[in-house]
Amino acid sequence: MKPLLYKTPEDLVLLTNKSKAETKALIKNLKKRKPKNLDDVVHEMHDELFEAFSCLDCANCCKTIGPRLTDKDIDRLAKYLKMKPQAFIDQYVEVDEDNDFVFREHPCPFLLPDNYCMVYENRPKACRDYPHTDRKRFVQILDLSHKNCETCPVVHEVFERLKKDLK
Ligand code: SF4
Ligand code: SF4
Repeated sequence: MKPLLYKTPEDLVLLTNKSKAETKALIKNLKKRKPKNLDDVVHEMHDELFEAFSCLDCANCCKTIGPRLTDKDIDRLAKYLKMKPQAFIDQYVEVDEDNDFVFREHPCPFLLPDNYCMVYENRPKACRDYPHTDRKRFVQILDLSHKNCETCPVVHEVFERLKKDLK
């Protein structure tokens, strides 16, 4: 299998749009069939891809989308930065159109120039969970993951491989 190369968010948006009809057909098929081994197949791809591809060569998610922040995330980050939670909110957080707390700025204010995360051990839960290719019941997040193809080279590759598997 050829190695996964870094793709910019601009390239991923173009590629995702180009293969939109094919991906939608795949999603429709998977939702209908609900293959029992889908999680195993996706988890195996996740492990293989992240073994060979480092997030430190990418950071697209930290640069462009940013996580949803829970109250717990805010308390933990504020404590780590020795700030009061309200001061942390005033400095870094805003409420988005879905009424969720999110970082005010992109790239994330805690992303360092070498793509390391300044708050890695205390990062938000959503950062830990992204890009969700190792979670259970992947069939439930096919549409969300299709959207994530525009950001994450690994998710994009997972969908491309699933299409080949189906053929
Ligand atoms: S999770 Fe995906 S988008 Fe985020 S840094 Fe890793 S490879 Fe890039
Ligand atoms: S908190 Fe860390 S992992 Fe999360 S978006 Fe910011 S830099 Fe990335």
